[in-house]
Amino acid sequence: MDAAISPTRTRTKVTAIAGDGIGPEVMKATQQILAAAGARLEWEDALAGAEAFRKGISSGAPQETLDSIARNGVVLKGPLETPVGHGEKSANVTLRKIFEMYGNIRPVRELPGIRTPFTGRGIDFVVVRENVEDLYAGVEYMQSAGVAQSLKLITEPGCERIVRLAAALARAEGRKKVTISTKANIMKLSEGMLKRVGEQVLKEYPDLQHEHMIVDNCAHQMVIRPEQFDITVMTNMNGDILSDLAAGLVGGLGVAPSANVGDRVAMFEAVHGSAPQIAGKGLANPTALLLSAVMLLRHIGDFATASKVENALYVTLEEGKDLTGDIAAPGTGVPTGAFVARVIANLGRDSAKVPQREYRRIELKQWPAATWHREPASRELVGVDVFLESSESPAALGRMLSDMVAGTAFTLEMISSRGAQVWPELGGNTFLVDHLRARFLFQAPRQDDATAEITELLTRIGSRHRWMHVEKLQRFGGADAYSKA
Ligand code: NAP
Repeated sequence: MDAAISPTRTRTKVTAIAGDGIGPEVMKATQQILAAAGARLEWEDALAGAEAFRKGISSGAPQETLDSIARNGVVLKGPLETPVGHGEKSANVTLRKIFEMYGNIRPVRELPGIRTPFTGRGIDFVVVRENVEDLYAGVEYMQSAGVAQSLKLITEPGCERIVRLAAALARAEGRKKVTISTKANIMKLSEGMLKRVGEQVLKEYPDLQHEHMIVDNCAHQMVIRPEQFDITVMTNMNGDILSDLAAGLVGGLGVAPSANVGDRVAMFEAVHGSAPQIAGKGLANPTALLLSAVMLLRHIGDFATASKVENALYVTLEEGKDLTGDIAAPGTGVPTGAFVARVIANLGRDSAKVPQREYRRIELKQWPAATWHREPASRELVGVDVFLESSESPAALGRMLSDMVAGTAFTLEMISSRGAQVWPELGGNTFLVDHLRARFLFQAPRQDDATAEITELLTRIGSRHRWMHVEKLQRFGGADAYSKA
């Protein structure tokens, strides 16, 4: 059983962001159940989301909310509406980034009474998703009028801390296996970083088995044989997509909880959104937020109340009485309030069907505030890639650029279009767009940063073409630090 904590303990202050749409309804429902279970929490209400945007706060979260989160370090949050495709950035993403909540934890567990095509398979795993890096850095540029670029930034400490979080979570929940899932076969440097760093870090956890799985196969395996997974760890976008797929295996977003954790702040929230179609009608299912609150209770060390609430919910789902319309048998759905009353009535009863897990606190490595830097054993500069806008044919462009660098420190090695070499020609039929990469190599590798030569090269190119950006081709510790064409 979970370790009980002292009844004389003080209340823990938690920032409560009710959010948009059904947010206030599921928040109230969750708080009622927690209060009835005797959770010693003190709520500090805070605003974020649509109302903040309406007030002209472009981050979606006013300063008072940020102050409350910084003070309390623990947040229970309802869904926040995000403008799609235009306007302000997501307030969710902003909160995760401001407080460096680098880890997203999504338990995927078969729930009693919720029938899915996978019922009876014993699905019980956790998706640990890196939460602040990757394409979600949101660093994007139009390269030409019709070519967009998004920067995928993956860092070594970002990989190390997410894998350490996965390993710490495995130990806290008595799990045995960590599956690192990446697209390292294609993105060898960025996705490959999670594989390389992860495999290195996990050597320090001999009690845990670990494996690597290519992420597309992981998606396939989650559907074919989901019971094989224990903890999976992924970069941000892969984890975003696969954690929703995983939620679908056990009943969908309406019942899926999550935690966002960092060194100083942990924020617990349902996976679902604001469900505007049912907002204000008293129909919302608070299960996902309630299970998120159970994770919150475990985070603050109140294992006994967490288990009490979780069991009352499981008993309610098992018995199938007074469920909200989204999970009830057809025609038997009840309002949110009746569901809450049923869960409260079931407090103190234990589920006979769901195996009880022992939980301990997640022991996280604290990262120093200093800027992370690792100096490679050696550095060499072997050339530059210049990205430019041109509608010339590759053959004509190749001739022009070769002539342009004649007599300089550079030679033109190749030109590629969206990563595929188009000069010298390889005989394929690559579709050409007006955004090309020209690779120039130094005749001999350089130890300095060759600013003067690169500036001269750009001046020459700029006299005939629009160049967009330049990437240095470096070697760190004797290994190429750039991808081949
Ligand atoms: P959604 O709000 O999750 O709703 C999709 C549908 O799922 C709803 O229409 C409803 O289906 C059902 N549903 C979701 N949660 C439910 C619950 N607790 N109880 C009962 N039914 C539930 O997804 P969306 O429509 O794509 O997104 C709406 C807004 O939420 C968007 O502005 C989006 O940006 C935001 N959002 C926020 C978060 C977050 O804050 N973390 C996450 C996702 C989306 P029926 O209508 O068929 O009953």
